[in-house]
Amino acid sequence: MLKIYGKVEDGTKAEIMGWVLSIREQKTLAFIIIVDNRKQVQLVVNDIKLLNHVRQNAVISASGTVKKTTQAPGGFEIHVNELRLISKVKKEPPFNIMAKELPSIDLRLDNRALDLRRPYNLDLFNIRATLIRSMREHLYSNGFLEVNTPKIIASASEGGAALFPLMYYDKQAFLAQSPQLYKEELTMPFEKVFEIGPIFRAEPSRTLKHLSESVSLDVEAAFFTNEDLMNLIEGLVKDLLSDIWESSSDLLMRIKAPKLNLPERFNRFTYGKIIDWLSENGRKINFGDDLGQKDLELFGSHINDFYFITEWPIKLKPFYIQPKDSEVTLSFDLMYRELELSSGGERVHDPSILRKNLKGAGLPLKSFRHHLIPYYYGMPPHGGFGMGVERFLMTVTGADNIREVSLYPRDVRRLTP
Ligand code: ATP
Ligand code: MG
Repeated sequence: MLKIYGKVEDGTKAEIMGWVLSIREQKTLAFIIIVDNRKQVQLVVNDIKLLNHVRQNAVISASGTVKKTTQAPGGFEIHVNELRLISKVKKEPPFNIMAKELPSIDLRLDNRALDLRRPYNLDLFNIRATLIRSMREHLYSNGFLEVNTPKIIASASEGGAALFPLMYYDKQAFLAQSPQLYKEELTMPFEKVFEIGPIFRAEPSRTLKHLSESVSLDVEAAFFTNEDLMNLIEGLVKDLLSDIWESSSDLLMRIKAPKLNLPERFNRFTYGKIIDWLSENGRKINFGDDLGQKDLELFGSHINDFYFITEWPIKLKPFYIQPKDSEVTLSFDLMYRELELSSGGERVHDPSILRKNLKGAGLPLKSFRHHLIPYYYGMPPHGGFGMGVERFLMTVTGADNIREVSLYPRDVRRLTP
């Protein structure tokens, strides 16, 4: 908390409360960097007796006068004449938040609140908040309604992906792996909807791009074709990147965020084209097999950009995806190099096809009884996509481990803090 009693000019009285990021002591004076509401402010202590037990991580309050200087963050410093220790450091911290050399990610995550004090993380999570605000604003300005769907659900919405079971009173329930079926139903009353919320997936393998709890931007719109959706997502990505770079370029530069290639138009490659290219380049994939990490790395480094993979085979997609013909679907994945950022497509809106697909996928019709109801009362054709907030943030910041961009990551080994 910073109070400046007047203009930011030499001699103006100021008070500040915050925690100490660093102390640099010289013979007769000391410089303290204090964090005020995520920004750094420099204090100059001319009487080092005032320092007493003040050290890195302590919470202090100080009062004094402003002095303008280009040497200090924000263009001014406070020359202190009163200093009070509010919250002492009671234990030696497990690592120095200002150290150049980072401790292991596990040690940092075990002490996450302390780790989040590192200037890198202050910047990163400011950028994350800007990204989410920008997603929201972009969709509001395109006429989408923000919704919240249940996270405790009675049955699997997609089949495939593994669910976390839980007890719901005396019944078995699950944590929602996506808002898929609800957002589809909501296109009937509301036409265009979006949700920014958690998705839960029991991902048994430990990878650098999967969390058990992640945040997803889910979008669904009546009357949108596959092409409309890809155009929407392309515009969204461009707007998000320009918003972030406009409002947070200093933060992005400090964390050494990469400058991303942003093509005028994102290339669209069919799945069929990609497996042909891969087989010409030494990786044989049978039609209908999923693209693995190695395949995506090879193709992604060849493209080195944002692009879409379209027309995925029917057998790789969930029951609600609209077929294009007897083999492929009206679907797409948005990629940046080898990383999948989003999956989407047109959906089935004919209840008889939906029932047939559910049966074909071996899913019990009984569990989807409620979901099928709107399909008998005028379900519009519709489509949408889900985009992982953490995946997008990895791309923006250049983080190579998804755990870095989640405040309190959950994975197969980590449930705390
Ligand atoms: P992947 O193939 O990378 O495991 P997916 O195809 O299973 O992802 P979708 O069901 O298509 O994932 O989910 C939509 C988006 O949500 C993905 O494109 C991704 O950005 C994000 N996402 C999905 N699962 C996870 C996860 N476990 N951790 C982080 N983000 C995820
Ligand atoms: Mg996907």
